[in-house]
Amino acid sequence: MNDLLGRPLRNLRLSVTDRCNLRCEYCMPDDDYVWLPREDVLHFEETSALVDVFLSLGVDKVRLTGGEPLLRRDVPALVRMLAVKPGLRDLALTTNGVLLADQIDALHGAGLGRISVSLDTLRRDRFLKLTRFDQLDAVREGIAAASRVYGQLKIDTVVIRGVNDDELVDLIEFGRSVSGEVRFIEYMDVGGASRWSPARVVARPEILETLTRHYGAIAPIEEPGSSAPAERFLLHDGTTFGIIASTTDPFCATCDRSRLTADATRGLDLRAPLRQGVSPEELRALVAGGWQRRDDRGAEDRLALGDRRAFVPVQDLLKKDPHLEMHTRGG
Ligand code: SAM
Repeated sequence: MNDLLGRPLRNLRLSVTDRCNLRCEYCMPDDDYVWLPREDVLHFEETSALVDVFLSLGVDKVRLTGGEPLLRRDVPALVRMLAVKPGLRDLALTTNGVLLADQIDALHGAGLGRISVSLDTLRRDRFLKLTRFDQLDAVREGIAAASRVYGQLKIDTVVIRGVNDDELVDLIEFGRSVSGEVRFIEYMDVGGASRWSPARVVARPEILETLTRHYGAIAPIEEPGSSAPAERFLLHDGTTFGIIASTTDPFCATCDRSRLTADATRGLDLRAPLRQGVSPEELRALVAGGWQRRDDRGAEDRLALGDRRAFVPVQDLLKKDPHLEMHTRGG
C-alpha cells in the first residue's frame, strides 16, 4: 500500500511514552514539560491491537522509542506481546541506555531483536552539560550489557558543531571496542531543537573529511534498494559506520515510516475509535486511508526554505502542545 508519493508502509515507530530521564539540549532543553495524562496513554493491549492493524497493512518492522521507552513500566511485557506476531520481521528498541543494563536480560528473553543506544559524547563533563544528568557511566554499562547479550548494537550520535564534533574518531574507536556500529546523525531542526541553527550542523561531507584525515580512504557500502536512512561506510580495517544526513540530504522520498505516538492521537486519532470499540477492519480502513493520503516531506520542505531557523521557535507553543515535540512524536 503506497502513499500519494508512492512510498510503501513498511516501518512503524512506536513511542511508548513521552517522558524522558535526560534533558538533551537538542531535544528537550526545558526544565518542565506538559506530559500526556497517564489515562490518555495507550495500554499495551491497545498498542498490540494497533500493531496488528499496521502489520496487516504491510508493516514488517517495528521500533520502540519515546521519550525514553525504558521509563515505561514493564516494556519487556510489551516486547513479549509483539515478538510473537506473525509478519513482524524486525523488532528493535532505541534507548538512551540509562536503564538498559538492568533490563537487558528481560528484553532479550522477551524476544527483542535489536538495540540502538544514543550516545553523543564519551566525556563525563560534556555528557552532563548536554543532557543535564550525570549518567554517562550508566549508559556505558547499558552499552556493555547490550554488547554482551546481543553481540552487537548500533550507537546513534547527533553531531553538533562546537559540542562533540571533535569526538568522531573516539566514538568510532569506542564503538569498535563494544561491537557497536556508530551512526552519525546530522543535527535536525525538529520540534524541541529550539537551539538549532544551520551553523551548528556538521554535514556529511565534513564528517567524512574528518574521518578520512584520521583513517585514510573510506569506502561507501552499496546497499541497493535500501530504505534505511543511514548510508554505511567501510574503513580499511573492516570497521563500518553510518551517516544519517537527514538535514542536508533528507530521505523523505524513500521514507516508509509511520509513527504511533504514546496516545495515538497525533495526525490521525486512533485512540478514540479504539476505545469506542470499533472493529479491527474499521481501524484498518482508518490507517489505510491516512497512509494513502500522506504527502508530507517535512525535511525536504524545510531544506527548500533556504533561510532556516529552529523549526518551532516559540517555546510557549511547544509547551502548550506537547504533540509538536520529538519526545512525544517519537524519535
Ligand atoms: N530516548 C531514546 C533515545 O535517546 O534514544 C529514544 C528517543 S530519542 C528522541 C531518539 C533519537 O532522536 C536519539 O538518538 C536522539 O539523539 C535523536 N534526536 C533527538 N533530537 C534530535 C535532533 N534535534 N537532531 C538529530 N537527532 C535528534
